[in-house]
Amino acid sequence: MADLTDKELADFAARLHSLKADLQEVQASSKDASAVVQLDQQSVGRLSRMDALQAQAMAQETERRRALDLRKIDAALSRIDDGEFGYCAVCGDAIERGRLDLDPAAATCVAHAK
Ligand SMILES: [Zn+2]
Repeated sequence: MADLTDKELADFAARLHSLKADLQEVQASSKDASAVVQLDQQSVGRLSRMDALQAQAMAQETERRRALDLRKIDAALSRIDDGEFGYCAVCGDAIERGRLDLDPAAATCVAHAK
């Protein structure tokens, strides 16, 4: 670990764990919400059913992104365990500190950000 102290790593780990807990909480409550949409579909007309399907597609997209974010967070946590946290996955250089502060799950330096 080039320039991150154990204390800083522990702080990043704590932030990642709390981000993960937040996402999982939202994930749990949004599963309830899409279950409600499905129930509504039985009893409403065609237009409303289209609305419901559209809402469901949007919810699925949101859910897909959330799952991606969770995977990023898990990957960052395992990089902390492996001692690779803070290094760009593409070029191996240290990731800018400001970038990590903004997004502790960032896996690349600014130059290699998608
Ligand atoms: Zn890089």
